[in-house]
Amino acid sequence: MPTRNLILVLGDQLDTNSAAFDDFDTSQDRVWMAENEEEATHVWCHKLRLVFFFSAMRHFRNELTDAGYQVEYHELSKQPSKDRGNSFSELLTNSVNRFHPEKLIVVQPGDYRVQEALQETAESLGVELEIREDRHFYCGIEEFNDWAAGRKRLVMEDFYRQIRKSHDLLMDDGKPVGGDWNYDKDNRETFGKEGPGDIKSPRSFRPDKITEEVIDLVEHRYADHPGTTEHFDYPVTRKQALAALRDFVKYRLHDFGEFEDAMWTERAFLYHSRLSAILNIHLLDPRDCVKAAIDAYQSGDAPINSVEGFVRQIVGWREFIRGIYWREMPKYIERNALRTGEVDVPQFFWDGDTSMNCVRECMKSVLKHGYAHHIQRLMVLGLFSLLAGVHPRKFHDWHMAMYVDAIDWVSLPNTLGMSQYGDGGIVGTKPYCASGNYINKMSNYCKGCQYNYKEATGDDACPVTALYWDFLDRHHEAFKDNRRMTFQVKNLEKKSDETLAAIRTKAKKLKEAVRNGERI
Ligand code: FAD
Ligand code: SF4
Repeated sequence: MPTRNLILVLGDQLDTNSAAFDDFDTSQDRVWMAENEEEATHVWCHKLRLVFFFSAMRHFRNELTDAGYQVEYHELSKQPSKDRGNSFSELLTNSVNRFHPEKLIVVQPGDYRVQEALQETAESLGVELEIREDRHFYCGIEEFNDWAAGRKRLVMEDFYRQIRKSHDLLMDDGKPVGGDWNYDKDNRETFGKEGPGDIKSPRSFRPDKITEEVIDLVEHRYADHPGTTEHFDYPVTRKQALAALRDFVKYRLHDFGEFEDAMWTERAFLYHSRLSAILNIHLLDPRDCVKAAIDAYQSGDAPINSVEGFVRQIVGWREFIRGIYWREMPKYIERNALRTGEVDVPQFFWDGDTSMNCVRECMKSVLKHGYAHHIQRLMVLGLFSLLAGVHPRKFHDWHMAMYVDAIDWVSLPNTLGMSQYGDGGIVGTKPYCASGNYINKMSNYCKGCQYNYKEATGDDACPVTALYWDFLDRHHEAFKDNRRMTFQVKNLEKKSDETLAAIRTKAKKLKEAVRNGERI
């Protein structure tokens, strides 16, 4: 069959309703998909992440072929062994030379680097490349740039309200449903001494034959990669994704808001949805999630604080983060506002081997599920990295490797920006920094820890607390005029010279230990 258009479908674009399939003609167009060695190895990927992507891609390929599409699919198992696999552009070049398409069509990739690689390959082959808009968002990139133009500061809350109004989401006659735009004040509960009790875990999807084959491939080809495939239970098809959404709405949405920020030992998901990974590869559309949550509110099955909280994450934070990525790239990845050195993430971010109970608990979840919930990412793992002076891009690289839901557009502004303050205040107005006191308040981690969250010096001093005061001290000049940091800076200024000297000594030892790959 002569090929008119070669439709490139990347691993995070698994939806036949995407713009790439507009005008698709099965008699003359062909789909192109590739499992790619570079993607698997340019960061040292968690095994679960690899299984998730390859399995979802193979399921999507099968759905397409069953529906009569011609698909040129490059399986990794058919490429040379690890480290000698074909590069993305080699695979594409081979296919273009074979089919001689008039045009390549792709939806805008979720990674600036991939978009550039595609453009370069198409140019070198002398074939036209059409990049179509990604419709899986409420706000297009141009629309975001128009909204941002001329504003002194980009504030997520302003953006969020604009989207709520323009899409008529949770609105009542031009006013927010329930009377308030947000219910954050109701959404900071902890589990108290009794703990969270029984919460139904996200629905589990047992690996089928296709997934089992991928697990075998990953276990052989990437045996030395972090994590384990033993617990793989992610949805990998649209049908399963919709079942996962229904499961969240039925069993966890009701209490999502209230306990959004709480953490608890051995409880990876609590009331969180675990929908990010399937949203990010387009097995779910954000509109599916928002509609399901609002329906639950309207039928009286979930309260406004939970529904608004969930809608805010999806149409507020998620869309805002994407807008920032495309507005600020490519320079954004180089930003390092706090001028950290080239310090890498600690060794225990790969193996979880640490005496700090908070980090150990979060790492258990990362290694077992390729997942940690937002507060674990921001206020434990991200916090430790920020306080220890890890380079923001290195934290991002680690995050890309270890989380099933990580795609460049969403990981980078969250890691480098929100969590590490590397962008100097574009995503957030102040660094998310706190002492062990915060972790103790929001979890039971400190109860089972050998360190004392109240102490910054001495043998049982909490590393988070020691590094927190040291961090404020190191950046005193930069933070003292930030109004949102006044309280923290004032508390630092109350410390005696003697105490500060002891904190600096303690923090220096801790940072050296991190650099030397030692266990803390
Ligand atoms: P829930 O708590 O149930 O939230 C519902 C949904 O809201 C999520 O599924 C997600 O789609 C969306 N959401 C919430 N907050 C954000 C946010 N800040 N940015 C984008 N979407 C958001 N999310 C990713 O999808 N991929 C990433 O690589 C990623 N990296 C992060 C790195 C750091 C350091 C931090 C602090 C946050 C990161 N996030 C990322 C955002 C958020 O932590 C995850 O989306 C969330 O934890 C996923 O779990 P969940 O599906 O159970 O989310
Ligand atoms: Fe983490 Fe410090 Fe609490 Fe231990 S005492 S769990 S290190 S915050």
